[in-house]
Amino acid sequence: MTTVFAIANQKGGVGKTTSSVNLAASLAATRKKVLLVDIDPQGNATSGAGVDKHEPEYTILDVLLGEADMAEAIVITPEESGFDLVAANGDLTAAEVQLLELDSKEYRLRDALVGIRDRYDYIIIDCPPSLNMLTVNSLAAADSVIVPIQCEYYALEGLTSLMNTIEKIRSVLNPKLHIGGLLRTMYDPRNSLSNDVSNQLISHFGDKVYRTIIPRNVRLAEAPSHGAPVITYDPKSRGAVSYLALAGEILRREQTVASTAPSQQPPE
Ligand code: ADP
Ligand code: MG
Repeated sequence: MTTVFAIANQKGGVGKTTSSVNLAASLAATRKKVLLVDIDPQGNATSGAGVDKHEPEYTILDVLLGEADMAEAIVITPEESGFDLVAANGDLTAAEVQLLELDSKEYRLRDALVGIRDRYDYIIIDCPPSLNMLTVNSLAAADSVIVPIQCEYYALEGLTSLMNTIEKIRSVLNPKLHIGGLLRTMYDPRNSLSNDVSNQLISHFGDKVYRTIIPRNVRLAEAPSHGAPVITYDPKSRGAVSYLALAGEILRREQTVASTAPSQQPPE
């Protein structure tokens, strides 16, 4: 079974890309097969994974426009990253308008994944910082949404519209979509605001908040300029340890869900 995660929050700079790249690498480190799909025109997940964004012959744009199959657009990242990638770059900015003219414009990504889904245990989609057609495609293709939340000022602002969007996509486009979890990022225990935000999240969303907290850690900010996930760049850093812990928590949550799901077999 493949799980497709969309990493989404329409705010910029909350840790979506950092979480996408490092969760992909951490799940790959547990020997899971992982595909990272960059669907943000900034292409930061592509470069953070060690791939030159102008190098691949095909990017996610070609896939969305039906000009390449997903399989043709998959590029292999540097060996130590351990996961596959579909790249994005600035050309994707035009996709919003181009998609409007196409059939089933909300389902372009979901449909493109069909042929390659089974090759992977996890597919992680790094969404752009807006609730545009690219994000709609991501949520329509996903099983589960991970929402990174920066534990700082205005963290909760915009969360309601994100939750409403997720709810609307569930009811109109993708009934299986659910919230995998809210992820506290850039947490600084010395900052009382970090604690306040964290407490507010827990009182609002309860166990939908991942127990793993991603601390503010300079290694996480440095790793992309080395084109490597943090577990390669500095495996002992607090950033590396926290994303490995998140991967562990996600794996455990899935096992719990699987073992408590009602049996498909009718009783004898
Ligand atoms: P988004 O994709 O939501 O826009 P990014 O993942 O690109 O956010 O993060 C925004 C900036 O913050 C980047 O410069 C990134 O390196 C840095 N950053 C992200 N998470 C952390 C962290 N836990 N500690 C320190 N810096 C971080
Ligand atoms: Mg980003």
